[in-house]
Amino acid sequence: MTDLLLELSRRPRARRLLSSLSLPLPMPEPLRRAEGALTLSPLQGRRALLSSDGELHSELRAALDAAGASPSSGFDGDPDALVFDATALETPAQLSALYDFFHPRRVAVHGRALVIARPKHATESAAKTATRFALEGFVRSLAKELGRRAATALLLEVEPSAEANLAPVLRFALSDRSAFVTGQRLHVGSALGFADPPECSLEPALRSLAGQDALVTGAARGIGLAIARRLAEEGARVTLLDRPREAEKLERLASTLAGRALAVDLAHHDAASKIADSFPEGVDVVVHNAGVTRDRTLARMSDESWRLALDVNLGAPLRITQALLDADRLRAGGRLLFLSSVAGLAGNVGQTNYAASKAGLLGLVQAWSAELAPRRIAVNALAPGFIETDMTAAMPWAIRQAARRLSALGQGGLPEDVAEAALFLSLPEARGITGQTFRVCGGALVGA
Ligand code: NAD
Repeated sequence: MTDLLLELSRRPRARRLLSSLSLPLPMPEPLRRAEGALTLSPLQGRRALLSSDGELHSELRAALDAAGASPSSGFDGDPDALVFDATALETPAQLSALYDFFHPRRVAVHGRALVIARPKHATESAAKTATRFALEGFVRSLAKELGRRAATALLLEVEPSAEANLAPVLRFALSDRSAFVTGQRLHVGSALGFADPPECSLEPALRSLAGQDALVTGAARGIGLAIARRLAEEGARVTLLDRPREAEKLERLASTLAGRALAVDLAHHDAASKIADSFPEGVDVVVHNAGVTRDRTLARMSDESWRLALDVNLGAPLRITQALLDADRLRAGGRLLFLSSVAGLAGNVGQTNYAASKAGLLGLVQAWSAELAPRRIAVNALAPGFIETDMTAAMPWAIRQAARRLSALGQGGLPEDVAEAALFLSLPEARGITGQTFRVCGGALVGA
């Protein structure tokens, strides 16, 4: 479905005309997205301005260098990335360093602002905790201000000793792969070990998932199909699962991705065992994407709508994962990914069933990330905001417009935006990230 305002904003004359009308909402700036396979140096030619102090200065400089950016402590013009190392800030008074770094400068259109901090440790002072919290407030607000320029702001919390896991995160966070990710915190840890340094290769594409098996549920369309495509492009053998009525389409899609189709209704009682049986040799990446909405206020919601949303969205991922674990089919070093939603974080009128199911998934992430860490299995949730798919096309027109505009970036995301984040979390080198909920919401005002 078309976002008319966004389409018009791509045309310079229409953009000028609409801007002169002083509309109550700013014109959205079309996002710049990455295409093709992952490369070692996605920041080639980008200018990054790095703050001069902080514990991680040399690691950040090296990571920026390796990703192809030109890190500098000063140059004229708008940098593509502003990277501020806040690890040395301990008191609210020292927060003025943030002001001094970001205030006189503007990040380029489509640029990135990144603040790097340390996570809380048990014995830190109240002043230090307050300073750390303040960084998040700053980043969330900066994200809202930068959204007009299709630029983003993120806070990265890096555990001491997890520096080796920083480089792949920077490659994602500072590149066009994260175009719809803004205004949030990402924790980089070391519980699952350390990222392998990227191989120096003359090949432009990394094909980081070569040799890995992946399962994506709800893969016949929308976000699930986009995720299946990206995983396949990076070399994974993908099993695309969807309802039996999609079987023919699924076969066609699977053959174009050199993958496999699995037509199973997740609401069926033997779905979980069927799925586990279909991976006798095990699976590396499982993306629980299939989901349904059955929206009604609670007072008007049928028993069936309640049950279906809870069962497909939460019951099925629980049963499938448990079956894979019981049969020991989830390989060590694997990835579990659950498609939650900002509605699960914030709640939404008419979505008590959906929001309960999507929040329940966050409980699975919390429980299994701890339980599976000894096997180096990372468990995370993605919480999309408004993404342009058949699911959101079914929303009433006015609500759809509001959902697009009420975000820092002023537009809906594409399935490919969620797919890039899913791919990032599936990469072996993203092993510093587990137990987290990663919003792909363009800085949605709901749930942000
Ligand atoms: P979609 O409706 O376009 O696609 C969902 C897919 O899941 C369909 O192919 C459908 O056939 C499949 N499916 C549904 N029930 C199934 C069942 N019982 N068995 C097997 N397959 C089943 O949805 P989408 O917009 O691509 O969303 C994908 C996921 O992302 C969902 O979990 C959704 O809740 C979540 N999400 C979407 C948005 C958004 O804005 N589109 C926002 C937040 C979260």
